[in-house]
This record gives sequence, structure tokens and C-alpha cells, in this order.
Amino acid sequence: MEENTNVSEFFGCRVFDDKALRKRISKESYDKYQKTLLDGKELESDVANDIAKAMKEWALEHGCTHYTHWFQPMTGITAEKHDAFVSGKMENDKQILEFSGKELIKGEPDASSFPSGGLRATFEARGYTAWDCTSPAFIKNDAAGSILCIPTIFCSYTGEALDKKTPLLRSSQAVATQAMRVLKALGNTSSKQVKTNVGAEQEYFLVDRDKYKARKDLVFSGRTLFGAMPPKGQELEDHYFGSIRERVGAFMRDVNKELWMLGVPAKTQHNEVAPAQHELAPVYEEANIATDHNQLVMETLKKVAERHNLMCILHEKPFAGVNGSGKHNNWSLTTDDGINLFSPGKKPHENITFLVFLMAILKGVDKHADLLRESVAVPGNDLRLGADEAPPAIVSAFLGEQLEDIINQLVETGEAKTSIQKGTVNMGLSAVPEWKKDATDRNRTSPFAFTGNKFEFRMVGSSDSVAESTTVLNALAAESFCEIADELEKAANAKEAEKIAKDIIVKLAKDHRRILFSGNGYSKEWVEEAVKRGLPNITNMVDSIEALTTDKSVKLFEEFGIYTRKELESRAEIKYEMYSKQINIEARTMIDIASKHIIPAIIQGTTELATSINQVVSAIGEEMASTQKEILYEMSANLTDSKVALENLSDLADKASAMSYGKEMAVFYRDKVIPAMNELRSNIDAAEMIVSKSTWPMPSYGDLIFEV
Ligand code: ADP
Ligand code: MG
Repeated sequence: MEENTNVSEFFGCRVFDDKALRKRISKESYDKYQKTLLDGKELESDVANDIAKAMKEWALEHGCTHYTHWFQPMTGITAEKHDAFVSGKMENDKQILEFSGKELIKGEPDASSFPSGGLRATFEARGYTAWDCTSPAFIKNDAAGSILCIPTIFCSYTGEALDKKTPLLRSSQAVATQAMRVLKALGNTSSKQVKTNVGAEQEYFLVDRDKYKARKDLVFSGRTLFGAMPPKGQELEDHYFGSIRERVGAFMRDVNKELWMLGVPAKTQHNEVAPAQHELAPVYEEANIATDHNQLVMETLKKVAERHNLMCILHEKPFAGVNGSGKHNNWSLTTDDGINLFSPGKKPHENITFLVFLMAILKGVDKHADLLRESVAVPGNDLRLGADEAPPAIVSAFLGEQLEDIINQLVETGEAKTSIQKGTVNMGLSAVPEWKKDATDRNRTSPFAFTGNKFEFRMVGSSDSVAESTTVLNALAAESFCEIADELEKAANAKEAEKIAKDIIVKLAKDHRRILFSGNGYSKEWVEEAVKRGLPNITNMVDSIEALTTDKSVKLFEEFGIYTRKELESRAEIKYEMYSKQINIEARTMIDIASKHIIPAIIQGTTELATSINQVVSAIGEEMASTQKEILYEMSANLTDSKVALENLSDLADKASAMSYGKEMAVFYRDKVIPAMNELRSNIDAAEMIVSKSTWPMPSYGDLIFEV
């Protein structure tokens, strides 16, 4: 199997999909199972046992020794606890291997150490994992052997969601229900279901493992906390789409193979803008599965990298001065009979259904810009958003010339009469036939860009799950669709509904045109212009968190059954805590490295130079040592400044640690600790430029990103 190069033969070979299930259980059980899926009722225990038995047999045939409920707690990564199939009981001198329906459906991890944001005191350890049968079980295969992973949701004893998947699933249901109402009201009689699709493009860095290990900042905090810029950065843009180096190519080849076996449709791979930066994009899938698959992508990238003596870095900004990494969440809604709700068709100005859905999204994005911003809040993203390489923290939308023109017509004349049509491109080469232009160019700087038949939300950080951003997109869409459906359903007939729809489109265009922006989103002018338009610019994670618990947010999420107020409050608490913890780790790592490695290196540098000066002076006299002396003065002054900055940071970090978790503590880290970290870093980076390379205690930026 491992050597097989025929992708269609081994694709998904580690997935227990519907086909595998159908083959292994009775038709009666299968039909009952399908029925429960439709009514959402409890699964009969006989059927659950049949499915568990089939799953176990399949897993054993594939060499599995253990199973696990695989879930996605609020840490942003996945969690698993392995249980062997071993029962401790014998039959015919052989160990009985067990796996029951009960064990499939529900797990009870002692989950007191997962973030719960006050939803559960640590003494109330009970939490449940529950089988999510909409994402197929799969086999993870690594040094621990082969483990059957069963995707589950994770909740507290009292039924509050403690994970990222539950709200996502709830939001997909909500948006589906409301979208169906709009479709029906506009005369659609063929569609039965609407599903959310996500395509998560993943950026990452690859560095040499030995060099990585020599950088304790990368090891502990996931990013470099020191490092002077190398003579060359990314200014030549020679890495973007450049040919892929052998070592990286071998890594990508292995990654693809692993992912294909897991049924992840890994599709595109290329070098990104920054040196040592790359991207992997899969084909889009249903949001729940895409979210699981993105977790598997991140895990696989990390695992396979180590096999190649590389390390994969998923942090949003591992290196200052070059581009950071993001994750583009390509989001769309489609019906079971193949209608993409965001497909404009050839003449979008006449496509009322499309315009209704489009304007509904613009409204939701405008109204809940703060929640969208919050949905991408991880500490690392603060360093990336607005830092010249990623959209700023202002949520605006790019629709392209054609749709923007339609909206302008709607606003200005109350009616859209034309759709700008693009011509063809003719390069004047007989060997290259002419082609039709796309209706719009691209705008890489927009945080929320319409790209043909989907929206591309580009603010998500590379290390983050796509669950939260998708949940917010689904929720805001559900709310807008619901309001529109309420209006449309008042119509007595199709004609009247169309008239109401047209009025809605015009009103929404007028009210929400302000979030459209097609210029350079990275420019200072846009930040100023956005302020004039009253668009929020929430530059840091700490300020974004309160969006979760506003009345507007609670109303939105409670109305559509996505989060309760309690769940939102707990999430806010978790986020403040997570921020403080992360910055604390960074500060402590800096203190550790500066005091144990860098300051001793600067002292060594000054001592060696002082010895050298004494020798020069005694050999050829005072004047000839003047340049060396200048350098020694500079180094000594730097040593003093670095020591002062280090002490200041230590004091502030101690003060911060003494506070209790919550907003105030997070604000202290942001306003006091981070500036002190920056001050220490700037001194140390200056020292790196004057202390000899052989004395410097760790690999430089140049070593890390240019020598992979
Ligand atoms: P880009 O526009 O970023 O250059 P693509 O158009 O090839 O690249 O798609 C990027 C990602 O968007 C891929 O993961 C792709 O599968 C996904 N995608 C394409 N169409 C849709 C869609 N209708 N809904 C959701 N994702 C989509
Ligand atoms: Mg993209």
C-alpha cells in the first residue's frame, strides 16, 4: 500500500466511509441508521452495536490496536485518549477484542484539564464526547501504531459545548434552514438541503530541525523572539511560486500521500512569498469535514516534517520582517441539487436570487464585523494582521468591478440594468488561442473577497481552526436570511415575492455599500478612510474579545441555537486567559534566553575585545586600537541597555503573573509586557549585529530561512 503510486487506488484507504459501513452491516440496520440521521433521534442500541462491530472489524483488518474519540477542545488543536480493543477476557485461549455501540456513541474523558472558561469547576471533571457521524472515522498511523479515530463533539456534564465543533455544526444547521426558507420563498421547488462548504488554504514555514532545536524561542513559543534581519529578505519576491527545492519536494510528496490515504483532497502546493514559506490547498468540502481535514493537514505537516529532519511552523508570524502565515477560509453555500447560492451567472443584475443572497451576506458582514474579527483572534494573528502582508484588522469586502457596478446602479437609480461584460485576451500568438476574461480581477489585499462563486475570508491565522470563522459566517448569514425570509414569506405569489426581493436588494445595497473597498487594503489611506466610514479597526486580540458577549452577539447566537450566553461568556474568559498565557510564555522565554545565553555572549564578546585591545595597545600603541575601542564602547553600552531592558521585562512579567486571569490581566500583558519585550528585543537585535557570529548563541534568521 505504501509504495502504491496510483492515487485513485489508495485515496481514502484509511477512512471508514459510508461505502465501508454499508458493506459491513445489514440493510435493515443501515436504513435505520439513515433514518435516525434524518430525524436526529437517539440511535437504537442494536444498530449502534452493529455499526461498532463493523467499525471494529474494519479497523482490525487495517492493523488497529486502539480506538479514540477524537475531538477539538478550545485549545485550537485536537485531543485524543487511546483505548485498546483488548478486553482482558479470553475465549478459546484468545484475547477478546471489544468495541460496543455504547463506546462508539459516547465517551467520558476525565476532561477537567481542558479549557472550560468557568463552565466547569476542576472538581467537576465529567465531560462527554459524543460521536459525530457526519464526519467519517479514520485511522491515524504513526509511531504509536494504528489508531481508529472517531470524530466527536465535546461538552460538559450539563450539556454546554466545550469544543469548536458543536457550534460549527449548530451554525451549519441554522444557515441551512434559513437559506431554504429564502429559496422556497423565491420559488425554488427542487432543493431539499443547503450545505456549507469550506476550502481552507494553509500556509506554513519549513525550517531545518537541528537549527530549530537550537532556537529555544521557536521551541517554546512557536515564533522567534529575537533576530536581526538578514541582508536579504523577501524583497526580490523570488521565492513566490519558485521551483520547489528537492528536500521540500520530498516532504510535500510524503505529505500528499499521507493526506490522500486519510481522504483529504490535498490539491495545490507552492512556495509562498517569504523564504521558507509554503502553501497547501485542498479541494473544498462540507464545512464539518473540511474543519477536521484542516486539523489533519496541520498535524500531518508537522509529523512528516520531522521525518525529513525539518520542522513545520504554523505560527502566524514566526519571523519579524518577512510575511506571516494565514489560512484562507473559502466559504460557500450550495444546495443538494447543485445550486451554488453565490453563483452570479452571466447576467448577475437579472439574477434576483443571487443578489438577495449576496446582499444578505454584505449586511451580515457589516453588522457583525466585530465578530468576524474576533473569530480570528489568536495572539499570533495580532502580529500579522495589518503588517503589510495581510489584510488589516478592518473588515471590508471586495466584490470586483462587475458586482460593485451593479450595487452602485442599485444605490443610485434603485435598479440595476446592466452587467459589465469582460472581453477576451488576445496575446497575438497563433500558438496561444485567445481566452475569455474573468468577470473580475483579484484583490489580494481584501480580507473578505468575492472570488467567483465563494467568499474568501483571509483574516484567519495559520495555526487557527477554521471552525470559529465558519461558525460566525454561517451565523450572520442565517440571521440575514431569516430577516429576508420573514419579508418574502408575506408575499401572496411569486410575482409579489420578486417585487419584495427587489426592494430588499436596493435597501441593503444602500445600507451596506460602505463596507465595499476595492483599493489597496494594505495602505495607510485605507485605514484613514475606514475610520471616516465608521468601520471598526480592532487591532488586537484583547480588544476583539468583548465582541463575543455584546447584546448583539448574544441575540444572534441564541436566536439560532449556536451558542448560549453562558457558552459565549466562557469562551471570552478562555480567550483572555489564552492570550495572557501565551504572552507570558513569550516573555519568560525571552528572559531565559537573554539572561542565560545572549547576555553571557555579549559579555564574552566584550571580554575578548578588551583582551584584544590590551594586546594591540601593548604591541603597537594606543592610537591603533581606537576602532576596536569604539566597538567595545558600543558593545558595552548595548550590554547595559540590554540588562536594563531585561530587568524591566522581568519585573513586569512578575507583576503580570501575580494578577488573576481575565481582561485586566490581558490588557496588562498587551500594554506593559509586550512593549518591554519589544524594547529588550531591539537591544538584543542590535547586539547581534556587532557581536561576532561565532559567539552568538543561536542560529540567525539567515541560517533559519535561507538554508532549508
Ligand atoms: P485562489 O482563488 O485562492 O487562487 P482557488 O480558486 O483555486 O484559489 O481556490 C482556493 C480554495 O478555494 C481551494 O481550497 C478550493 O477548493 C476552494 N474553493 C473553490 N471553489 C469553492 C467553493 N465554491 N466553495 C468553497 N471553496 C471553494
Ligand atoms: Mg486564496
